[in-house]
Amino acid sequence: MKKSIAIDMDETVADTLSRHIEWYQQHFSVTLNKENMRGHRIYDVVPEAHLTTVRQFPHHPDFFKGLAIFDDAAEVIKELSQSYDIYFASAAMEYPSSFAAKYDWLKKHFPFISEMNYIFCGYKGMLNCDYLIDDSSRHIDVFSGQGYLFDAPHNQNETQYKRVCNTNQII
Ligand SMILES: [Mg+2]
Repeated sequence: MKKSIAIDMDETVADTLSRHIEWYQQHFSVTLNKENMRGHRIYDVVPEAHLTTVRQFPHHPDFFKGLAIFDDAAEVIKELSQSYDIYFASAAMEYPSSFAAKYDWLKKHFPFISEMNYIFCGYKGMLNCDYLIDDSSRHIDVFSGQGYLFDAPHNQNETQYKRVCNTNQII
């Protein structure tokens, strides 16, 4: 029986941070630099006065449309799918208007993974997979299998997790 891997979407295979930076630039004419965001989420680095607006961005149905995919993600996951059962697990319940865009995005970039393997969830502690790849340590903290923290600017100071620095390292 194949072992199973649950793979997060935002900031693990999809470049959601770049979309945040793009929309922030459009709204406030301020360019954020990923290098200056090491150890911080976008909500930690924008001025208090912008926070309500920035927190609303992901609730817009267009926010998750057409996100860039990280280098090699499609090729690597295709290769992994030969030996493992692959599931995509996104805490999409945080942003209910994202479902359609996320579904379309997965269909487009991972046509070799069945849509029956998409898990739009809230609490990732309920996932019954052998591995979880996720940039958010709060999900790894509650996951019962082996978690790997996917490298992202915001998690640079979290040293207590096994880390994969790019998609290729998952292999
Ligand atoms: Mg994520």
